[in-house]
Amino acid sequence: MASTTNYKLDFTTFYNVINNELKSTPTTRTATNPSTLAPLPAVPVSTQADVDAAVSAAKAAFPAWSATPVEERVALLNKFADAIQENFNEFVGLLAAEGKPPSAAGWELQFTITHLKRTTSLRLEEEVVEENDEKIVKVRYTPLGVGVGIVPWNFPVLLGAGKLGPALLAGNTFIWKPSPYTPNTGLKLAELGAKIFPPGVFQALSGEENLGPMLTAHPDVRKISFTGSTPTGKRVMAACAPTLKRLTLELGGNDAAIVCDDVDLDKVVPKVALSAFNNGGQVCMDIKRLLVHEKIYDAFLAKLVETVKTFKWGGSDDTEGAFFPPVQNKMQFDKVKDMFAQIEKQGWKAATGGAVEAEAGEKKGYYFQPTIIDNPSDESRIVQEEPFGPILPVQKWSGEEEVIKRANNSDMGLGASVWSNDLERAERIARRLEAGSVWINNHLDLSPMVPFGGYKSSGIGSDWGIIGLKGWCNVQSLSVPKA
Ligand code: NAD
Repeated sequence: MASTTNYKLDFTTFYNVINNELKSTPTTRTATNPSTLAPLPAVPVSTQADVDAAVSAAKAAFPAWSATPVEERVALLNKFADAIQENFNEFVGLLAAEGKPPSAAGWELQFTITHLKRTTSLRLEEEVVEENDEKIVKVRYTPLGVGVGIVPWNFPVLLGAGKLGPALLAGNTFIWKPSPYTPNTGLKLAELGAKIFPPGVFQALSGEENLGPMLTAHPDVRKISFTGSTPTGKRVMAACAPTLKRLTLELGGNDAAIVCDDVDLDKVVPKVALSAFNNGGQVCMDIKRLLVHEKIYDAFLAKLVETVKTFKWGGSDDTEGAFFPPVQNKMQFDKVKDMFAQIEKQGWKAATGGAVEAEAGEKKGYYFQPTIIDNPSDESRIVQEEPFGPILPVQKWSGEEEVIKRANNSDMGLGASVWSNDLERAERIARRLEAGSVWINNHLDLSPMVPFGGYKSSGIGSDWGIIGLKGWCNVQSLSVPKA
């Protein structure tokens, strides 16, 4: 049962968390609520001295934390998850102010709590890999040391906690670096963590865009777990090379969904629509290229348009159960706006939407109408690039070989899905798709037990599941002679 008294936090002031102390900085900055354009509470701007202090505290905490029995680490992680639950409504309010309607923020927070708790059920057992009369050789997994999680703005709580949980479970210490667009929730989680974990085990630093490079360059950081865009991922990898840091990269996606001609439209269209427009298209694993068999194309498209038109939009003050958010920040808003401008420039046919809602004067924030582009060419920008906003290309296909080739014709390979009533056919296609997560009759169906990573430019390594946990460890072979 969760404790109900000790862990209530004040959600009006925000600090770096270094060695379990709340630290201010001489300079502060603010992020913006994208639905109201109001500033969020000020957060620290960390300097090299703050980075050095946090890394040195994390390094000092590592020997004792890594020697702590795993069941004690598990107990503290569960206590932390319960403490988030105790502040649930306040965290939902803050996460909503960072860019999504409260119902969507509630989903993210609840999944985060579940994620942390289920992660604690994972264990890395020693494996015997060779045994004979003379010796027994075992493989062990030992923690790396100081880990840093670099987090993007689209799921600022879930994606950070999905790094924190496995890092701490494996015996590492951890510094959370939130996106400058969504710094508040990460800092508040670390403040909560300071009430639960020993000093230096879980810390957080916020700052400007120079903070990530300070952390990737630091010689005492042993691992960077990065989630963000592919261009930044390449910079992070280069920055980790001089100190040979371990690295997990969860990068961009351009997920294809292949819809066969035998699907039940009433069942499939709503699921596909949600998987394409989840978080307003701002999910690495949203469907970003929808390939529909030509025999059902017109009926599918008509139903998809009908479904998308029923989506409820909302921002942080929504009370109607909306799930469709604004674009999270001005930088992304301008990028998506440029993609919307191509509709006219390139002569794309919008089956629905096409307008920038904020400019139409209906809402103040960074809103776009959910938009569907009817059968653009494979060469068009909307097919080639990850828009990371609510604009989806739908294309026709006719032959199985052709559609597999087109789905794989991308430098990205994060997720993909096949939709068919014929499960044998669906699996035959699914097995040939070049993506880290492939679903049949589903998309974006995530679990803390299942590894999450990409092929090609979508990343290196995996977060989550037992494979993700191994990513937070050295591999040691231990050869013991038999007496
Ligand atoms: P981004 O790459 O701009 O930033 C991600 C994080 O990296 C931020 O915290 C940022 O401050 C930090 N950063 C920026 N430059 C850095 C540098 N040189 N060194 C170290 N850190 C640096 O990404 P974003 O705009 O926040 O997120 C959107 C992108 O993330 C999309 O491409 C999306 O597909 C991808 N994404 C991937 C996954 C996944 O798991 N594969 C999940 C969510 C989002």
